[in-house]
Amino acid sequence: MSYLGPEFEPAQPRRSPLRRPLVVALAALVPGALLGWGVYAAAAGPGDPGGSDRAAVGTPTSGPVSPTATDGEKSPSTPVPTTSGPLQGKVVVIDPGHNPNNFRHTAEINRKVDIGTNRKECDTTGTSTNSGYAEAKFTLDVAQRLRALLQSQGATVKLTQDGDRSYGPCVDERARIGNTAHADAVVSIHADGSAAGNRGFHVILPASVHAGSADTRAIAAPSRDLGERIAGDFVRVTGSAPSNYIGDGTGLVTRKDLGGLNLSTVPKVFIECGNMRDTKDAALLTSGAWRQKAAQGISEGIVSFLRG
Ligand code: ZN
Repeated sequence: MSYLGPEFEPAQPRRSPLRRPLVVALAALVPGALLGWGVYAAAAGPGDPGGSDRAAVGTPTSGPVSPTATDGEKSPSTPVPTTSGPLQGKVVVIDPGHNPNNFRHTAEINRKVDIGTNRKECDTTGTSTNSGYAEAKFTLDVAQRLRALLQSQGATVKLTQDGDRSYGPCVDERARIGNTAHADAVVSIHADGSAAGNRGFHVILPASVHAGSADTRAIAAPSRDLGERIAGDFVRVTGSAPSNYIGDGTGLVTRKDLGGLNLSTVPKVFIECGNMRDTKDAALLTSGAWRQKAAQGISEGIVSFLRG
């Protein structure tokens, strides 16, 4: 479906179902969320790519993949202990979606794993921009930026993979890492591969599922809380609009077909930060400055959730 309106148009009540759920959920917590979106829109104007210098902030886009990281069975990154900050004692697991090397291991990642409701591929390669910037590089970069932000607040942070594996992990293991860590919050970072013209972010919430080894009944509500806070803060910090192609403008979508959510026993959401196949969204996703904003928005949502 096509997107007819100008990009980053300020929120308009008639076309913004986002207002209702987010305002209801977030008004007391982040009253500036939607205002921030409007202010950004007015200041930036349509089509502002938010900067195009990939190296403007933080790590280079090539990512700090260790040249010696060839052991697919290595354990995920070790949490760095922290000593102070408002999130001291809190554990956050960040799941960078896919793996830059998955395409070299199609047999392994196509292996089916049990996700409770059914069996599904261990992992997928993910998408890329039309110019070849891989989703897996994007997710790892945002995850590393997010880790730094959360650690600076005192949280203990663990990544499900840190460029240190030859493929995967499989989606069931990704879920297990959060569960085993007894994480207070888990966020899986992604970018979508939808049709050109489809723009914006959306947060994916776990449906209440009880099938086989999947039981999300206890985490559905807290995960929704986590997701609503992340969506509100993502709007405010990045200025990006909620998806124009899924979620009816709320920026929130509930799914029961994702193993990473179905198998989680701790509050968890996915975020699709934008559409890599849309050139305007791709201009944002390939910008280091924008990825820092994305990490900041997600971080603030997590902090809000953890502090209650
Ligand atoms: Zn993905």
